[in-house]
Order: sequence, then structure tokens, then C-alpha cells
Amino acid sequence: MQANARMPAIFFGHGNPMNALAQNTWTRAWAQIGNSIHRPKAILCISAHWYMPATAVTAATMPRTIHDFGGFPRTLFEVQYRALGSADLANRVKDLLAPLSVGLDQEWGLDHGTWSVLVHVYPQADIPVVQLSIDERQPAEWHYRIARQLMPLRDEGVLIMGSGNLVHNLHTYAWGKREVAPYDWAQGFEDLARESLLSGRFEPLIEYERLGRDAMLSAPTPDHYLPLIYVLAQYQTGEPVSFPVEGFDGGSISMLTVQLG
Ligand code: ZN
Repeated sequence: MQANARMPAIFFGHGNPMNALAQNTWTRAWAQIGNSIHRPKAILCISAHWYMPATAVTAATMPRTIHDFGGFPRTLFEVQYRALGSADLANRVKDLLAPLSVGLDQEWGLDHGTWSVLVHVYPQADIPVVQLSIDERQPAEWHYRIARQLMPLRDEGVLIMGSGNLVHNLHTYAWGKREVAPYDWAQGFEDLARESLLSGRFEPLIEYERLGRDAMLSAPTPDHYLPLIYVLAQYQTGEPVSFPVEGFDGGSISMLTVQLG
């Protein structure tokens, strides 16, 4: 791949899968991001929903659209996001992560963490997309360390994208209600995260399990949180950090988007 302008790295809070079909404040802001940044040659997505005991990349030429949820309307199951894969990018990621063993996966595809956002950011689905799994056996420090090895991709025209939610607690989610204020612990954890992100000192976020009650209620399982670690590992000293999408859904889902660069 050729040298190129450095791409941003972006963590998206994807929230409810129905955002794929919605036109709301969040989805309009996602579309705006697609219109405002340099067009990537390819996208590498780390999604909360490919969380398993191994590291792998999708290597299929035509990754399938995975409807990895239940209890939603048929129209959501009919969504197809027909972006191509990229064997070149899959192999490049494998090389960058060596000596870690990275599987070239032909079975997975694009899960809703990826496509529910990309249908808005790049509705034409004309940019190749590769997913990198999250090894569920490893702590946040390990994910931060391997994610640092992916940094050269930003100069090769690749958009590194994380998709999860900074605060993601479904037990306390106010289903079906409108306009619920965020819980104090949710707001408290998001405030702390913003402060850490803006300061460029990420240790508290990498060691989030030591932060106590607010962090444990906000990230009761690591799957939706760890994609943020992959994105903040791309930080280059002095570059801008911004939050182009903000807000809470149901009081316990932070829709915060974090953009580096
Ligand atoms: Zn999710």
C-alpha cells in the first residue's frame, strides 16, 4: 500500500441495532463523519460483537452480512451491507501483529457492530472492510499493546474503526422509554473517560477495572469497551481528540464517538 495522508482513527458507540434503519441525531452525525474525513482505501473494524477466544481477521472476498441478534423486526434482518473484503489488508494486519498468531477467517463476515454504523457512514458500501476479532481471554493492557502495532495502517489509507459503547449496561437500560437521563455512574464514567482522552494520558482507561463502581457498572463485560482501547492505541502525540457524536440512550448506553486526528 502507498503512503497517504494519515487517516483518523474512530471509535463509534453503535447502541441499538435499530440505529441501522433510523435517521436520528446519532446516525446523521455518523453520515457527517463519512462526508468530512479523507476517503479511506479500506476499513479495519474492531467490533464488540466478534469477541471470542482467538485473534482472527476476516479474509473472505465477499464477507456476509451477519444478523447477530434476535427479537428485532424483519426489516432489520433484510439489511445487506455489500462491502468487499480485502485479502491484502487481512494479510497486512496478520503481518503487523506477528509473532501473534492471527487466523485468516472465512466464516465470519460483517456483524451488526460494523454494518449498523457503516450503512450511515458509507451507505454506498464501496470501501473494502475487514474485521479483527477481540480475544476474550486477554486483558485490556494486552489489547492496547497489540493495537499499537496497527498504527502504520493510518498512513496507508486505512480507517481503523472501533465499534462498541463506552458505557453499555443492558440490565439498567430503560427499554421503550423516551428521553431518560443518564445514570450518575454512567455520566461519571463518561466524564472521566473524556478527561483522560483529552489529556492524552490513557492509563486510567487501559486500567479501567481499577476504577471502581462507576467503571464496573459502565463496562460490566469488556466486549463493548475494548474496541475503544484499539482506537486510543492509535494516538499520536499532539493530535486532536474530538467527540463528534454525544449522548446517552436509555440512561445506560453512551453513544459517544471518539475521533483521533
Ligand atoms: Zn452492540
